[in-house]
Amino acid sequence: MPWPLTTERNASGELLVGGIPLTRLADEYGTPLYVFDEATLRTRAQRFRDAFASTYPRSRVLYAAKAYLSPALVAILHAERLGLDVSSGGEVYAGLASGVPAAKMTFHGNGKTDEELREAVEAGVGLIAVDNRWELRRLVGVATAAGTRVSILLRLNPGVDVHTHAKIRTGAIDSKFGLPVGGGEAAAAVDEALASPALDLAGYHAHLGSQLFDPEAYVDGIEAILGFAAAMRDRHGDPAVPRVVSPGGGFGVAYLPDEADADPATWGAVAADALRAGCARYGLPLPELVVEPGRAIIGPAGVALYRVGATKEIPGVRRYAMVDGGMADNIRPALYDAGYAVALANRAEDGPVLPVTVAGKYCESGDVLVRDAPLPALVGGDLLAIPAAGAYTLSMSSNYNLARRPAAVLVNGGQARLIRRRETYADLLAADLLPEVPAPPRTTRETPLATVSGA
Ligand SMILES: *Cc1c(COP(=O)(O)O)cnc(C)c1O
Repeated sequence: MPWPLTTERNASGELLVGGIPLTRLADEYGTPLYVFDEATLRTRAQRFRDAFASTYPRSRVLYAAKAYLSPALVAILHAERLGLDVSSGGEVYAGLASGVPAAKMTFHGNGKTDEELREAVEAGVGLIAVDNRWELRRLVGVATAAGTRVSILLRLNPGVDVHTHAKIRTGAIDSKFGLPVGGGEAAAAVDEALASPALDLAGYHAHLGSQLFDPEAYVDGIEAILGFAAAMRDRHGDPAVPRVVSPGGGFGVAYLPDEADADPATWGAVAADALRAGCARYGLPLPELVVEPGRAIIGPAGVALYRVGATKEIPGVRRYAMVDGGMADNIRPALYDAGYAVALANRAEDGPVLPVTVAGKYCESGDVLVRDAPLPALVGGDLLAIPAAGAYTLSMSSNYNLARRPAAVLVNGGQARLIRRRETYADLLAADLLPEVPAPPRTTRETPLATVSGA
């Protein structure tokens, strides 16, 4: 089930999360509104931490911040002893602002700029996951200039294909991410990393994709990493033996009522077995295992609320309900054909149910949040709730049509706290500048057009 743990309906049929009726939150903070349930967030963080620690004590869980970096939520995850996986200078900055020490961060990304590398090195980011040889050389320059030695992982492209949407598959041979293992690019990167006194090669990383359900993905990833590590050990000896192995994140979550989350306990056990068996087979010492769930931590903790406006029935074709948000706050349906559940939040879902397409308000025909959802007849003013909306929604949000990005609240035990205010119109123009525009050249004859054509 995709709903937060604390979801319930009261006697009058209203939906509650964290002990608060969603109608009350919508009235107080406006819509669209993103509601995060603290109990669900903490429970999921603990479940990952405990699942991996109990089966493989030398494991570390990093929250992949790109799923949604809210300082309030990241501070909670830090309190739950999760580290942070960041993928831009902005995320390093926001992670630090959330109170996460740089040493607990791993910096990912295939296009890190010199400026971002400099900022990360100066902040003391724990590990930099180097994606390619260009970056490796830039990092040598940055570390040398800073007079420090930087610990790195090499991001491998192991050529492992996983079953997920093409746009969120990252470990197949044809991928922009990582150093291809086949063809020698990854081996050449190891040669270069070991040759530089500015770099400390801590280990290897492979992230295969997102929204994965088969833990065999982790077996494939770990096997590819260890096979490569053994070859590098044979070539370079101890310096190429990994102290850290990371098969990334990608744990799938339920979006629809009949789906179930990938179970961290199963994945933990599978990963631990693969790591122990592989290390024994290759004669490698057991490394630290670093896993990076993003979606699986934050996704199911979030619910999006929208107010229904117009409804439209195209006879014999489709029934539409327009809502006050859409692709600007949640691009996933338009980008990945992602499916969502939706529930009526302000009253009981009784009466006959008919398919309704929940359409966003933005100027794109593709701006549809949920197609043909089974809902009772809707009227303007109804409140709709979309579960599993915490990941890759606000973090991918835009100001398209000059929409103000939504507010977010954190709920727990009947209390709500605003963790992000709704943007204002002034925010929309905060970065815009209005230079003095030169006046248009004056024509010699200032004859009003009316007199030319008239009289
Ligand atoms: C995106 C990403 C993750 C998190 O992926 P989820 O599917 O949200 O768990 C982890 N590691 C890396 C390197 C990533 O790019």
